[in-house]
Order: sequence, then C-alpha cells, then structure tokens
Amino acid sequence: MPIVLPGRARADYDLARAYLTRDRTESRLFARFESSPRTFHLTTNNRGDDHFDPASNTIAWDPYSALRTTRGGTQSPALGLGHEIAHAIESPAREAALSNHFRAGYDNAEEARVIRGYERQAARTLGEGVRYDHRGSLYRVHTPVSR
Ligand SMILES: [Zn+2]
Repeated sequence: MPIVLPGRARADYDLARAYLTRDRTESRLFARFESSPRTFHLTTNNRGDDHFDPASNTIAWDPYSALRTTRGGTQSPALGLGHEIAHAIESPAREAALSNHFRAGYDNAEEARVIRGYERQAARTLGEGVRYDHRGSLYRVHTPVSR
C-alpha cells in the first residue's frame, strides 16, 4: 500500500475505510487510492483541518471532526476522508485545472466534482447528509464514523 501514515492514524483510517466501502463507489475509490503508483501521505490533526495538498501528495484529516451541512444534515469524519481521497486520486493536471476554475457555491470545479460525485453517492448509500455547496460547520465526535 503506497500510503504512509503514522501508526496512531491506522486504526482511524481502517475504521473509516470499513465503513465507507459499504458503498460500491467508495470501494472503487479506495482500491484506486491504495493501488496507485503514487505515494500518498496521510497526516491527522485535531483542528478540523481536512485537505489534500497535491504538491506533497498529503492528505490532512481530523478523524474526530464531523460536519453539519448548510441544510442541517450531518456528515461523519469518515466521509471527509473519502472526500479528500477523491481529490487525491484525480490526475494532478486535471485536479489543478479544475481547482482554478470558479464554480458558484462550490468555490471551484474540483470541489463540485468531488462533492457532487463521490461524496454525494456515498452520503446517500450511508444515510448521511448531502451537500449542495462547499460549506458546513464542524463539531467534535467520538469516533471517525460518528455524527
Ligand atoms: Zn474538497
């Protein structure tokens, strides 16, 4: 597996993965992520900071930060990991091009692609809140699959 992550993050990653891959689309996403020729790094934090840095192929993830959508639904930290993995597995050139393309409500076309694609599909399968924008408010939970 070309994913470098600190030992303490492993259990959180495994729990999120087991949960998300109940959705077939997420299952394919994780398969692509874990078999990619690129080496990805996963770092965890407790600041609610989820993002993917294409310059270093690094995903930052807070395994205990859930999200309340602007429509009042909730999303688990696990879904946030799936969101960042969807950014990570995109080709760097396309990810960069889409990120530079403004999209109303979603900040940019790359966020729209991920939110309207993988994230929405998984949210529906798993019964989580669906987003129609790139917004929401964060709150703390006890496990990566809580909300
Ligand atoms: Zn994103």
